[in-house]
Amino acid sequence: MTRFAEPEVIACPHCAARYLRVVLLSFNTMMQKTFSDGGSVNGLQDTLCNVARCPNCEAVIKDILSLDLVEQPLKRRFWEKLVGKEPEYSYLPKPSFDVYLELFENDTQSDLRFNWALKALQVFNQTYRMYGNEQEADAALKQQYHRVCQFILHRYTDYSSDEMTLLCADIYRQVGDFQSSLHLYNKVDDRNLSHIVEPAKRWCEQGITSLMEIGGRSGQKQSRIQKRRL
Ligand SMILES: [Zn+2]
Repeated sequence: MTRFAEPEVIACPHCAARYLRVVLLSFNTMMQKTFSDGGSVNGLQDTLCNVARCPNCEAVIKDILSLDLVEQPLKRRFWEKLVGKEPEYSYLPKPSFDVYLELFENDTQSDLRFNWALKALQVFNQTYRMYGNEQEADAALKQQYHRVCQFILHRYTDYSSDEMTLLCADIYRQVGDFQSSLHLYNKVDDRNLSHIVEPAKRWCEQGITSLMEIGGRSGQKQSRIQKRRL
């Protein structure tokens, strides 16, 4: 079970507004879900977020986990917890696509740009392209998303690894280029990755372009739906 200690108080380096930062006592990954683009939810990364947009000044705050404490950890008395008295400050919101896009566009370091692009892609996919819960993004957002996709695909040969192959294969599948996607999936022969490759090839054959959960039941559900349609 994931347990939290009393939060720490940090300040926005741009405007000095104060926020809470979570402190973990213990963490487990039981609730973690992993997706076909390598992203996840309910993992340690999502719980301890290192970037956010400051709701007060709207600037992006980086390296949240290394910011100095501005107050000692809150010590709420037991009765305050009992009556649900909230701490004075709030937590920073989870970063949305625009936060990572801004970092991607402004960073000059090539490897960091790649990381921001990947995070932007994963957040976009989870927001708009989740299987069974797809949402229409507006045209400008879609254009930015495609720019991020192209940037990652162009870096394919710079990062030769099975993970990069799986990532690019998933991008091709999600834009509907199933031939390129299958071509890349067929290049991955590490048997330890067959739990990703095998269902992903089926999603290509079924023409599924959404973000899929790895090991989830959504693929099976989809085949049943498709069978009914036939
Ligand atoms: Zn601020």
